[in-house]
Amino acid sequence: MKQYDYLIVGSGLFGAVFAHKAHQMGKRCLVIDKRQHLGGNLYCESIEGINVHKYGAHIFHTSDREVWDFVNSIVEFNSYTNSPVANYRGKLYNLPFNMNTFSQMWGVTTPAEALAMIEKQKREAGITEPRNLEEQALMLIGRDIYETLIKGYTEKQWGRPCTELPPFIIRRLPVRLTFDNNYFNDCYQGVPIGGYNRLTERLLWGVETITGADYFADKTHWDSLAEKIVFTGRIDEFYGFRFGRLEYRTVSFDEEIVDIPNYQGNAVVNYTDREVPYTRVIEHKHFEMFGDDVYRCPHTVISREYSTEWKDGMEPFYPINNDLNNAVYARYKELAESETNVVFGGRLAEYKYYDMAQIVSKILKTCI
Ligand code: UDP
Repeated sequence: MKQYDYLIVGSGLFGAVFAHKAHQMGKRCLVIDKRQHLGGNLYCESIEGINVHKYGAHIFHTSDREVWDFVNSIVEFNSYTNSPVANYRGKLYNLPFNMNTFSQMWGVTTPAEALAMIEKQKREAGITEPRNLEEQALMLIGRDIYETLIKGYTEKQWGRPCTELPPFIIRRLPVRLTFDNNYFNDCYQGVPIGGYNRLTERLLWGVETITGADYFADKTHWDSLAEKIVFTGRIDEFYGFRFGRLEYRTVSFDEEIVDIPNYQGNAVVNYTDREVPYTRVIEHKHFEMFGDDVYRCPHTVISREYSTEWKDGMEPFYPINNDLNNAVYARYKELAESETNVVFGGRLAEYKYYDMAQIVSKILKTCI
């Protein structure tokens, strides 16, 4: 009998929730992570009393009551509602695309006027079967919004022209004929009170963890410790890149402490033109400080986000699900499905864009 039932490789959300559930069920778990901290990309650092999301902003959102109750049973969440603002050449627009945006864009004041404008632009685009992101955006919302709020941002984020990107990426964004700036359509959203590290710590309470431990540096040793492996890293690396390398986008963060209490008045400001090199600026205090609380802390911390192609040694963030990568992934997936002792889970192991709630749901409902 081996020392552990599960060796969990990676302590991000998938690994931490899996470990939590398995531990509750009496399984012996060891979680290892090659970084010097737990929590994967959820990790926050406290700077000037502000929880800084070191790997990009994370906002938990779901309509699934079971998932919401589960995460709140671990740590209480606040009611932060994501309402990003877009800055295009100095002019501000509300997101997602809603009556505020249409009013700012065209001066319209009623849903009927906005709809007439959108329909006119959709007709002018004349697209019925979108073959790429540009066509999908024109068909969904018309040329003005596409050129002002989508094209520059998307091309910076993905490093490719919109005509070479798949249509589905843009279908994530809601289009509304109401004055509603809530970025998500879900019933529940927020961030953990006290920050994401509390969520990670509590998920992993009682579970053995080792940080700074590289699975691939001694795979045979780690494998020998447990009956089953839960792998949340890159699937192509797991299989020694035998079918080729999968591509990812990564994000680098230029962090700054600013000596004013309120820099941009919002947690998220997207820069949607091509001239500004970063995609967005996150002001972290607004995730957890509201109203007058913002002014109790005289400083603020901002992160400018730059999106770039991933290379070895960087943190992979977003899978690039184009036809080529999907075909390579399909071959790895076939191998993964034939494994009896390895569970593959999360963005990197499944080469799929996941929201946090989907990860939690998957583990609660299917994995264990
Ligand atoms: N997007 C855009 N303009 C924006 C925000 C998003 O065109 O101001 C597009 C962009 O292509 C992006 C996609 O919508 O990749 C999904 O955006 P989301 O905010 O969901 O991306 P995430 O926050 O996960 O990076």
